Amino acid sequence: MATTSVLKPDYDVKGDSFIFTDEHEQLRESIRSFVEKELAPHAEEWEETTFPDSVIHRMGELGFLGLDKPEEYGGQGGDYYTSIVLAEEMARAGSGGLAMGVAVHTDMAMPPILAFGTDEQKQDWLVPAIKGEKILCLGITEPDAGSDVSGIKTRAVYDEATDEYVINGSKTYITNGHRADVIVLVTKTDAEAGYDGFSLFLVPMDAPGVIREKKLEKLGMHASDTALLAFQDVRVPASALLGEKGKGFYHIMWELQGERLIGAAGCVAGAQQAFDKTLEYAKEREAFGRPIGNFQAIRHKFAQMATKIEAARQLVYMTAWRFNNGEYPVREISMAKLYSAQVACEVTDECLQIHGGAGYMKEYGIERSWRDMRLNRIGAGTDEVMLDVIGRSYGL
Ligand SMILES: Cc1cc2nc3c(=O)[nH]c(=O)nc-3n(C[C@H](O)[C@H](O)[C@H](O)COP(=O)(O)OP(=O)(O)OC[C@H]3O[C@@H](n4cnc5c(N)ncnc54)[C@H](O)[C@@H]3O)c2cc1C
Repeated sequence: MATTSVLKPDYDVKGDSFIFTDEHEQLRESIRSFVEKELAPHAEEWEETTFPDSVIHRMGELGFLGLDKPEEYGGQGGDYYTSIVLAEEMARAGSGGLAMGVAVHTDMAMPPILAFGTDEQKQDWLVPAIKGEKILCLGITEPDAGSDVSGIKTRAVYDEATDEYVINGSKTYITNGHRADVIVLVTKTDAEAGYDGFSLFLVPMDAPGVIREKKLEKLGMHASDTALLAFQDVRVPASALLGEKGKGFYHIMWELQGERLIGAAGCVAGAQQAFDKTLEYAKEREAFGRPIGNFQAIRHKFAQMATKIEAARQLVYMTAWRFNNGEYPVREISMAKLYSAQVACEVTDECLQIHGGAGYMKEYGIERSWRDMRLNRIGAGTDEVMLDVIGRSYGL
């Protein structure tokens, strides 16, 4: 029996989430050790070169690419939270571009193949992708259509004589587009059928007519490659159709939900990473005879950031819990995506400010986080699109 009636605040309490078990924490430890030993030391170098394909191969060997995928396809058979653990730990590499390249492979291109693919498609693409032997990318965005997915122009026309589809069009901002072996491609198969006129295809990137036009230069996420792609009379067999013909729009809207939630988890982890690094800095860096963290103005910045990060984290975890239980919480996923991305941008901006001139210098890694995080308010659905989804969900 306790002899004191005075309760002390538990500031260092562990297990700040109800969704993770001991097994998740063990998985976290092993991913963390891999990330810290084999990825983080290269963060700066890969800004110049983009990360090598060998990262995907190595992660496949270690079993990290199919954590929540069924064992029959070489996955680990874990729950959705294992993907959240991966997204969180990848943030420790300090390279947003690397985390994004891996997430496009595991949580953007893979889920539609698993959900809608035939057994043959799964054997051809999912199994080697989980092993890290084949790399995936996802093509939705086009030069003339991003937020408005229904405005895409890439066409797939059925050729009865050969039982093939002929694809023409172009895609832009495609992550992994230069390294990928296959693209999950969103096309229109019936221009007159509205939302029922879209179809997905699995198109090998070495098929004649697939042109990797340009490596695009960008503000951040330098460790990832971003492609402008053209498809000129690309012929694929009818068996390359992924999912139901005409249902591609709904398939890709479903895919975007998982992508957004994983992105949100990555944002929270990225914000936490910057926060931790900056906290250490603020305790050491002195000005006017004291550590800068002891100025009330700076202390309050940390308090504000910590509160926002925690709120975003709980929103992500609660939504992940619903998603893992088989619900389709589109409103909450949109909220989690919107809020986490905004928090990540606000936090990295404050962290840069607290670092002063050092924040602007490359060697501290904060400027990279600041640049990398900015994408999250645009990619996978902009802030404005998320607000629209949330607003419309109330019947407006
Ligand atoms: C580095 C990077 C990597 C990417 N990776 C991929 C990838 O792998 N695969 C892929 O398919 N795509 C990818 N994208 C594309 C990304 O998803 C799109 O950029 C994003 O969806 C926005 O589309 P857009 O750029 O065409 O902007 P637009 O749709 O042209 O939007 C421009 C502005 O208008 C606003 N706007 C648009 N519609 C509305 C509306 N209804 N109400 C209010 N405001 C609106 C937007 O919010 C935005 O501020 C990537 C983008 C980047 C930058």
